[in-house]
Amino acid sequence: MEGLKECSLTTTKDVSLQELKLRLRDFARVRGWEQFHSPRNLLLALVGEVGELSEIFQWKGEVARGLPNWSEDDKEHLEDEVSDVLLYLIQLADVCGLDLGKAALTKINKNGQKYPITHQNI
Ligand SMILES: [Mg+2]
Repeated sequence: MEGLKECSLTTTKDVSLQELKLRLRDFARVRGWEQFHSPRNLLLALVGEVGELSEIFQWKGEVARGLPNWSEDDKEHLEDEVSDVLLYLIQLADVCGLDLGKAALTKINKNGQKYPITHQNI
């Protein structure tokens, strides 16, 4: 695959699920990996990445919001694993033909109906 170039995403602007989905499609296509990206395989990869994410928190006890006592290396590791989970989730939804953003918004609305705001919440 010499001679092929990929653009690297280095911007810090808001990134859409659509943009990530298209980037991931292209990433897999140019490497010939689409053949491996069945829903089942992507789900298993996603579960594996959730395990890697869990390992970061394993045995740490309760962790404060914002991770004030974590090193930059630990935070970078967390960013990597959170991203792996997100990227496999996006790919799984894509190969299943789902609109992940729309599905997530619908689910938030369903959760709002299931758990209505009460005076006890405020
Ligand atoms: Mg990982």
